[in-house]
Amino acid sequence: MGFKIIAIDGPTGSGKSTIAKLLAKEKQYLYVDTGAMFRCLGYNWKKRDLDQSEQTLRELGQETAIEFYPDGTIYCDKEEVTDAIRSEEISKLASQISQFPVIRQCMKDQQRQLVEQARLAGKYDGAVMEGRDIGTVVFPNADKKFFLDGNNKVRAQRRYEQLLAKGEKVSYEEIFNALEARDQNDRNRDIAPLLPPEDAIRVDASNLSISEVLATMVDAIG
Ligand code: C5P
Repeated sequence: MGFKIIAIDGPTGSGKSTIAKLLAKEKQYLYVDTGAMFRCLGYNWKKRDLDQSEQTLRELGQETAIEFYPDGTIYCDKEEVTDAIRSEEISKLASQISQFPVIRQCMKDQQRQLVEQARLAGKYDGAVMEGRDIGTVVFPNADKKFFLDGNNKVRAQRRYEQLLAKGEKVSYEEIFNALEARDQNDRNRDIAPLLPPEDAIRVDASNLSISEVLATMVDAIG
């Protein structure tokens, strides 16, 4: 059967994190949230008050230690950042920092290494990789590719509710505008823009329940 790589790409608020986690659990695959990796770099970039030179960014990308634990916690340079990296401020910084080619290169290398280590360790039968450029750039030969989308209002509402639940003081308008700006950045950047891979199964999740989307994916993977 071999080790399977499942790519799930899509914009903010499309529900891809929820679905990717559930899919990984169901298949007992490794789950990798690549957005969290960019978020950790954005977090560290700000914390260390760094500049934008290529050298600085390369060091940041190579030296930031990002660790995912099975209980879902995330550590950045030994500091627990699970909740801290989900704020609107870090969302913007992650989107900004992800535009730099040197940062994308570092992340691509690390994401491939993570999967290779998991494959060699023999603990999992596959990996669910969630992000923006997994099926197009990081794993163009993934065994299955999905592109999850949804209309802007539904996605903004989902994001707004997530932030409210975390106690952030935000308005729906603010979140809708930030989501559109971030989409714009992600879809139009020069390298690895957010685009559906040609061979991806496209799912518009606006009017589907989580279990409907999950069932579609499980069926497709077989
Ligand atoms: O998925 P999430 O919203 O956590 O991602 C945060 C940001 O990281 C995105 O807006 C995007 O700019 C960037 N990102 C990326 N490539 C990925 C995953 C995330 O550029 N594979």
